[in-house]
Amino acid sequence: MPSQSVLVIGGGLAGLSSAVALAEAGLQVRLFEKRPHLGGRATSYTLPDGSEVDNCQHVTLGCCTNLADFYSRVGAAGKIRFYDRLYFVDAQGRRSTMEASPLPAPMHLAPSFLLFSSLNLADKRGIANAMMAIATAGGHPPGIDGISMLDWLQQMKQTPAAVERFWRVVLVSALDEELSRTDAHYGIEVFWKGFLANKGGYRVGIPSVPLAELYEGCRQAVLRRGGEVRLRAGIREIRVRRNRFEGIVMDDGTEISADACIAAVPHDTLLNLLPPEMAQENGPFSGLANIKTSPITGVHLWYDRTVMTEPFLTLLDHTTQWIFNKSLLYGAAETNAAAARQTLQSDQSFDAEADGQYLQLVISASYDLVLKSRQEIIDLCCRELAEVLPAAREARLRKATVIKEIKATFSPALGVDRWRPAQNTSVNNLFLAGDWTRTTWPSTMEGAVRSGYLAAEALLAASGEPRTFLQPDLPLEGFSKFWANRNGAES
Ligand SMILES: Cc1cc2nc3c(=O)[nH]c(=O)nc-3n(C[C@H](O)[C@H](O)[C@H](O)COP(=O)(O)OP(=O)(O)OC[C@H]3O[C@@H](n4cnc5c(N)ncnc54)[C@H](O)[C@@H]3O)c2cc1C
Repeated sequence: MPSQSVLVIGGGLAGLSSAVALAEAGLQVRLFEKRPHLGGRATSYTLPDGSEVDNCQHVTLGCCTNLADFYSRVGAAGKIRFYDRLYFVDAQGRRSTMEASPLPAPMHLAPSFLLFSSLNLADKRGIANAMMAIATAGGHPPGIDGISMLDWLQQMKQTPAAVERFWRVVLVSALDEELSRTDAHYGIEVFWKGFLANKGGYRVGIPSVPLAELYEGCRQAVLRRGGEVRLRAGIREIRVRRNRFEGIVMDDGTEISADACIAAVPHDTLLNLLPPEMAQENGPFSGLANIKTSPITGVHLWYDRTVMTEPFLTLLDHTTQWIFNKSLLYGAAETNAAAARQTLQSDQSFDAEADGQYLQLVISASYDLVLKSRQEIIDLCCRELAEVLPAAREARLRKATVIKEIKATFSPALGVDRWRPAQNTSVNNLFLAGDWTRTTWPSTMEGAVRSGYLAAEALLAASGEPRTFLQPDLPLEGFSKFWANRNGAES
């Protein structure tokens, strides 16, 4: 086993997954995170009034195989509950659900889809044709290079209602970008992996505990093997000399050297840590400046009574896109995991809210909200909730919080893959991880974990001890498998 020392900069999912993988491989890992908690963007923290809130609701899908593997490695899998039924409501108050039937993939969702009350027959016919174009091409329909998702939907003759009430609803949430700005490859991949390739791909996984509680096992995994996890430990410089990583300089001036480094910070932060000649124009990392970001707004509302019965609800025709019933989702921990039960009992802020209801709303690609005041956003959301949840009309709002993440995710813009670097760099003992590196996945927890595993694999391969961490996708099923094989796609 190799015994080299590795520094990991950044304690988000990319840094954590690479650190855990390398520790398992026997390396001495030291992880540095500038914030007081682990998890990066996918974390939770305590507000001044004592309520613990997720930075924003984070959900996973059945097709996120590497995130599932990571949760298992760190003992957090039991804190994720999967839901087979999706709930929708439109401006007319019509409710629909989506769940798998016994039909084989890719037809498993067809019966729910046929009953979907917010779409008419022409909308559904168009959507079914486009879905079949993806499925029969094994996930790779022709003619999608260099076009936006909206261009492709127009080519596929989708009705305006189908675009607004189906494609946009799914894709803006999954990719955090408007259809006109989304590369068609990214949009089509969401439907292939999530809805068509395997019957379990669409299942929604939601933590039944605050996000930060998922990561305690990471620290243990690193410490158990003689490593170190340091919080409030910001790095201000990565030192490179003669094309070799030499060490880091911490914010307090401390210099630390190691055999290798994985930089797992956001792409724009990395540019500030690297030697200027590497980050500036024509330098090997200058392309990172072309990766754009898009915003997500999370709105937390505490009502004085129960206003919603579903665990979560997708809104059509509204600014609010998802409502998560946090009281119920955390309550689900009661039957889910003893660890979660312990957390709920010891958390005073949740006890105090026991007679009311805590909801978390998510608005992706929330460009229109960036300049709005917090109060304007709360008022808008409360109006929308009153439209779709009649009980909210009489309810009193006890408190509310808005969290605007301006740079929430990288934008899956046309051609973005050109700027996403591999985990290997031109500096032979410096590796990159982060959802923005080349993983083929959009900016997601799954993408971040993939990048961490790939960075760990690259580092071990470079030191002559190759190991595999990356997990395969869900197996292709049913007709999707047949069509993919016919088209020569990988299973
Ligand atoms: C509002 C919101 C909602 C989202 N919803 C979902 C969702 O539902 N499902 C999903 O799959 N994904 C979702 N995402 C995306 C997901 O959170 C990210 O893709 C993923 O967490 C990125 O992980 P990462 O490790 O690449 O980056 P980060 O999580 O950004 O981690 C980078 C880490 O580096 C640290 N750092 C930065 N600079 C330094 C420094 N100088 N020294 C030391 N440490 C440093 C940061 O503090 C941070 O902890 C959402 C993101 C946001 C913002």
